[in-house]
Formats: sequence, C-alpha cells, structure tokens
Amino acid sequence: MMAESVSVGGVDVPAVGLGTWRLRGDDCRRAVETALGLGYRHVDTAQAYGNERQVGAAIESSAVERDDLFLTTKLDGSARRHDAVGRSVRKSLDRLGTDYLDCLLIHWPNDKPPFSPVRLPGGPPLAETLDAMNELVEAGLVRNIGVSNFDVRLLDAARRLSDAPIFTNQVQFHPYWDQRRLLSYCRRNDVLLTAYSPLCHGGVLDDDMLGRIGRRYDKTPAQVAIRWAIQHEGVCAIPKATSRGHLAANIDVFDFELTEAEMERIRRPSKLRTLAGFARSRLPFDV
Ligand code: NAP
Repeated sequence: MMAESVSVGGVDVPAVGLGTWRLRGDDCRRAVETALGLGYRHVDTAQAYGNERQVGAAIESSAVERDDLFLTTKLDGSARRHDAVGRSVRKSLDRLGTDYLDCLLIHWPNDKPPFSPVRLPGGPPLAETLDAMNELVEAGLVRNIGVSNFDVRLLDAARRLSDAPIFTNQVQFHPYWDQRRLLSYCRRNDVLLTAYSPLCHGGVLDDDMLGRIGRRYDKTPAQVAIRWAIQHEGVCAIPKATSRGHLAANIDVFDFELTEAEMERIRRPSKLRTLAGFARSRLPFDV
C-alpha cells in the first residue's frame, strides 16, 4: 500500500514515513528494505542514530527510484558550527549513498529542551547553523531544511533567520501531546509538522480508548494513533517499527477515517502519560 501524501509549500511528503531511531546494523537494513518493499517512500534518520550507512544500503538494494523517496537526516549536536555543517552533511550523503537530501534538520535546539533528560553542550548561534544549511540548499545538496524539537518562539526565530523556508518542525506528537499551539503556528505559516514518537514510544499500545475506537474499524491502537496524527491537516508521522507485521500495519491506515468526535476523544494531553511512554522506552536515552 502506498502512503498518501501531505503537501506543504508545494512539496509532497508521504504522510507515513519510517522512523529509524535505535534501529542498528542488519536490523536497520532489513527494516528499511522491508518498509520500502511495503510501499514506504519516506525515511527518517539522523547522524546521531549511527545507521545512515545501513539506511543507504537498504535504499541501494531496493527497486525504489531515488526521486520517489523523501529522505531526511539531522545534524548531530557536534555539527552545528558553519564548517562542520557542510563537512558532516557530505559524510551523511556518502553514507546514505545519495547526492542530495530531501530534508536536513537541526536535531535539537542549543538549549536543553523541556522533558528531555539530555544535557546538551552549548552550540553556536542559530543563525550560523542556518546560514550553513542555506548554503547547502544553494549548492543543491539539500532540497529542504527544517528543525526539530523547536517551540513556537524558536521556530519563529528560525523562520526569520533563514532565506530558505523552514519546511518542517519535527516534534513529539501523539494523543498525550497534541502540540496544539505549535500546530496552529505551523499551519498559519505553511510549516509541516512531522510527528515523531506517534506511538508515544509504545505507550499508546494498551490504551483502552484507542482499542475501543480501533475495534469499530478493525484496527489496532497503534493504527488508530497513527491515523489520528496524520488526520490533522499539515501533519505527517514517522513511527518506528522493526518487524514486517508492525511495518505493514503502520502504513495500513488509509482505508478508514476517524470522526471529528473520535479525534477529540483521542486527544488527551498528559505530561504523565508522555513521561510514562518515554520511561517505557529503553533507557538510557542514547541520542
Ligand atoms: P514510536 O514510533 O512512537 O514507537 C516505536 C515503538 O512502537 C517500538 O517499540 C516498536 O516496536 C513499536 N511499534 C511500532 N509499530 C507497532 C505496531 N504496529 N504495533 C505494536 N507496536 C508497534 O517511537 P520512536 O522510535 O521514539 O519514534 C519514531 C521515530 O521518530 C524515531 O525512530 C525517529 O526516527 C523519530 N524521533 C525523532 C526524535 C527527534 O528528536 N527528532 C526523537 C525521537 C524519535 P518494534 O520496533 O519492535 O516494531
């Protein structure tokens, strides 16, 4: 089944992509190969995930034309200075076996983000990183640039500082963290919201409400959560999965539609549930 697309700024992005955080080695290569075979045309990786080479190998061995794929990577925290941006992206392109990225993101803002146990070293001014990213766009190595884990204030600053449009902000987005204010800002300004951890790291899997609603459509809680995310205008989602069964299920979300009432019932912002989902994922947090 081919993933439907979301269109922002004239660019079409498959509404469901494959997240690859913590997919490593052969598991990563196999999962990406399987996903591409199942119809995924959107893959999310990051320099920090240590799997760009496996993602590249899977793309290389697939029958998918490069132009049919939307491929994102993210700058490592150590690669935000002007020269390091260009150097590290050229290495990413080499590892990924491609001569361009569909999207390059700043992985984290320089200051410590809310809810994150990670303490990040101070980085250069945002303008310096964005200038270097803009040069990569001009050089044709990167088609779109964006950010990740930015709040409204920082996203607004990034938009002002960049000549190229800030195409997306990749943030945690699931029934327990609906990013209402950020999403409204993104929609007003034609910025794609890319939903990461749409399954709340697995925290939604035993959610009774999602289970009840899913039974109406013969869908699992995971499928309902992904459908819920992408049914928001201007949102795509990048669930991570390893097995063929999970990969196939996560892209099988285009044959049903949640009602407005169901969309509202599913939305239950909760810091506690968000943190519980995070705690459920394997620790230590390694990115
Ligand atoms: P997630 O996608 O919310 O959840 C992944 C978990 O759900 C895995 O344990 C997976 O198990 C399980 N799962 C997947 N599909 C399932 C299904 N159909 N039924 C039952 N279980 C299922 O978590 P995530 O990896 O944190 O987020 C997804 C992606 O977002 C990441 O891989 C990464 O690309 C991106 N991300 C970005 C940032 C950032 O800072 N920008 C941060 C976090 C994540 P299996 O693997 O065993 O299938």
